[in-house]
Amino acid sequence: MPEQSNDYRVVFGAGGVGKSSLVLRFVKGTFRERYIPTIEDTYQQVISYDKSICTLQITDTTGTHQFPAMQHLSISKEHNFILVYSITSHQSLEELRPIYEQICQIKGDVESIPIILVGNKNDENQNREVESSEGEAMDKKWKCAFMETSAKLNHNVKELFQELLNLEKRRTVSLQIDGKKTKQQKRKEKLKGKCVVM
Ligand code: GDP
Ligand code: MG
Repeated sequence: MPEQSNDYRVVFGAGGVGKSSLVLRFVKGTFRERYIPTIEDTYQQVISYDKSICTLQITDTTGTHQFPAMQHLSISKEHNFILVYSITSHQSLEELRPIYEQICQIKGDVESIPIILVGNKNDENQNREVESSEGEAMDKKWKCAFMETSAKLNHNVKELFQELLNLEKRRTVSLQIDGKKTKQQKRKEKLKGKCVVM
């Protein structure tokens, strides 16, 4: 009987880059052209991962600046982060910098925290302002993973959430090198993890 976990949690921030669209595409398989600003919505998605069943809790939040106290609280509570910008807006990439810096400040050692940088809307190549190479350079600087997605065309959306779980797993495995743990403890820790998507 596979174990079940409700511990994964994903929270989103930033404005108009397609965070809600990525969540809705992943959870409901839908896409809407119309922009409806988010304050905060929570979704659950049950997935099968590594012979276990996990319930991903996804909290989709508003833009970066409107509610700084909410953002601070989200970063404090969570352990995994997806930072979303739009490839059609250089400004949206720049807006991630203060969030990244806040994660560093609150979490300390960022190298041990799973972070994915996401360039969404990559179907809009004709309006591209951020080259893929720039995203790649950023991921080296920030020591995080990088991926381009399109919520509209359903490109790399499932892969994004999969990669998040992979990163979390890798982190847990490397933490285990230090201390010997029982099989059960290891399994439990593998299934634990919280994420913030911004
Ligand atoms: P949020 O504020 O970051 O949650 O952004 P939304 O998900 O609400 O999306 C903002 C706008 O961008 C909406 O009009 C969406 O239809 C559009 N959008 C979202 N994702 C994509 C995408 O991958 N490609 C294109 N072309 N438009 C997108
Ligand atoms: Mg939204």
